[in-house]
Amino acid sequence: MKQKVVIIGGGIIGLSCAYYLRKNGLEVTVLEKDDFANACSSGNQGWVCPALHAPVPEPGLVATSIKWLMKKDSPLYIKPSAMPQLSGWLTQFMKHCNEEDFKAGERALLKLSLSTLALYDSLQADGLEFEMHREGMLFVFLSESELNHKIEKLRNNQKVYGHDTPIVLSGDEVRELEPDLSKRIVGGILLENQRHVRPESLAKALMNKLTSLGVQLRSNTEVTGIERQDDKILAVMCRQERIEADQFVLTAGAWSGSLAKQLGYSLPMQAGKGYSITFSNPNVNISHPIYLGDSKAGVSPFQGAIRIGGTMELSGINTNLDKNRIQGIRQSVSKYLTDELHGESEMEWTGMRPMTPDGLPVLGKIPYWNNAFVATGHGMVGVAMAPASGKIMADLICSGETEFDIQSFSTSRFQKELKRNSPV
Ligand SMILES: Cc1cc2nc3c(=O)[nH]c(=O)nc-3n(C[C@H](O)[C@H](O)[C@H](O)COP(=O)(O)OP(=O)(O)OC[C@H]3O[C@@H](n4cnc5c(N)ncnc54)[C@H](O)[C@@H]3O)c2cc1C
Repeated sequence: MKQKVVIIGGGIIGLSCAYYLRKNGLEVTVLEKDDFANACSSGNQGWVCPALHAPVPEPGLVATSIKWLMKKDSPLYIKPSAMPQLSGWLTQFMKHCNEEDFKAGERALLKLSLSTLALYDSLQADGLEFEMHREGMLFVFLSESELNHKIEKLRNNQKVYGHDTPIVLSGDEVRELEPDLSKRIVGGILLENQRHVRPESLAKALMNKLTSLGVQLRSNTEVTGIERQDDKILAVMCRQERIEADQFVLTAGAWSGSLAKQLGYSLPMQAGKGYSITFSNPNVNISHPIYLGDSKAGVSPFQGAIRIGGTMELSGINTNLDKNRIQGIRQSVSKYLTDELHGESEMEWTGMRPMTPDGLPVLGKIPYWNNAFVATGHGMVGVAMAPASGKIMADLICSGETEFDIQSFSTSRFQKELKRNSPV
């Protein structure tokens, strides 16, 4: 008889897990409390840029962030009223802002991400039709020092890990590639082999594929309780409905921490809120995805649209659209363009990145549970890492091992004590 798997959370990570599990022959159901891929996996920038992967907590971030805290267009913002609920997580986060942890985390991410582009190719080879662009990734800078810092970093990633070779560009060379960029830009870097996808189209393609493969996709189905016996989950409760399976995978993004608690599993998770604005039929022409190096914002051109976005706001679990943050993104992007960006329509969006305090995902079996797994905490790189994460989870669930080095993403690294008897 086929093994049954229930996946809790239908963002890009849950859908990717479903894809690889189904490909391994398992019977899969995905439970999503709202609409599929409508949370963090929709309005993001869609960069599939494996050469850039790095943990968010980095050396020097604590000092820099103090300078940023009060600025409405700053890349990092911590809402003072959320401090009480953030403090434990923030303390851990700040401890990880050191050279040693950063280097170890970066190494783990960069090694894993070497498989990313091939996995994306294999999705298309399997008939998934989604918007994927191959123009590379352009970095542009208003300041020489930021530019030089990035050149050094990317050269190192190329030398040590074999990622893309950075091509250094003068300001004029940048404008030859992108004529609508401002004269204030002093230079840039092009990574030719990076990509970007329209995340909504990727999710749609996965959903179509999953449906055709017989996966049950159940929207508006919130998991509210977990029924267990000893070290096994027997079923999840969705309001009045009880859904049984042999294996369970938690992929609930920023919400994963509270579900993990029901298993007595300590998973420190905060929402790293970001914002984007999507301009349909824009007045400005952009052909590459662009990282605005000084303001840390991003621009993604899609078919018939441009999306700008960025910021990391720590304000707890909420999807309130803070107009100041949106305005901050608009202003920081406009510094890099010859014209104010407009579109026929403009859609403002916010999404909650699932953030662990060490900035690394959590992938694997939940300690002390026989049939419970977790895949979350992808922070800024969940779209890029989705295929690898899905493949890893299918490997682990089907055979107990994976070819990927996932030691740094261990599920037990935040475990202090187990309280398996906590109430459901
Ligand atoms: C502005 C911005 C730009 C970004 N740009 C990029 C980028 O360029 N490249 C990149 O790789 N990443 C990017 N990211 C990050 C990326 O969007 C996330 O890492 C990724 O979407 C996380 O996917 P997820 O499936 O873990 O979470 P989500 O997409 O949030 O999905 C989790 C799902 O679980 C559901 N859920 C929660 N609780 C329950 C429950 N009890 N029962 C049932 N369902 C439940 C939720 O409704 C949700 O749909 C960006 C993020 C932001 C905010």
